[in-house]
Amino acid sequence: MEHNDCIFCKIVRGEIPSHKVYEDDDVLAFLDISQVTKGHTLVISKKHYDNFLATPQEVMHKVMDVAQRIGQVQIMKLGAKGVNVLTNVNKEAGQSVFHFHVHVIPRYDKKEGFRIEMKEQDTKDLSLPVLAETLSKEIK
Ligand code: AMP
Ligand code: ZN
Repeated sequence: MEHNDCIFCKIVRGEIPSHKVYEDDDVLAFLDISQVTKGHTLVISKKHYDNFLATPQEVMHKVMDVAQRIGQVQIMKLGAKGVNVLTNVNKEAGQSVFHFHVHVIPRYDKKEGFRIEMKEQDTKDLSLPVLAETLSKEIK
């Protein structure tokens, strides 16, 4: 499965240059051009799938395996103190390239180009038991 106008398919085909970090038959990892922190790496499936949720489980596992190893090396060799592993699904969640990829973002200190914020919300209008039941009964 290839998409002619997909920027990451072009990187896989070698039509656009990239700084490769890892490659095997199914997975490619390369430096993100934005480098929100030093060593920010993208791990992608070589085949085109639109996002994490649309990717077959076996392929997704291979990508996550490489993401884990890259995070370990960022800590060992770049001196990172932490790592964020992130994948965005659809534009509402910040996805801008619609080819499955995982960001592996090493973290050094607070003055960086990447920030993630999870603010507690008022839950008085939510029924947590109903939400949990809705989700759990559909997960096989
Ligand atoms: P997302 O917003 O999760 O879809 O992330 C897409 C990422 O792809 C962004 O962080 C971009 O900086 C990165 N990106 C876009 N084009 C390139 C490219 N040619 N080489 C490396 N990274 C890229
Ligand atoms: Zn693609």
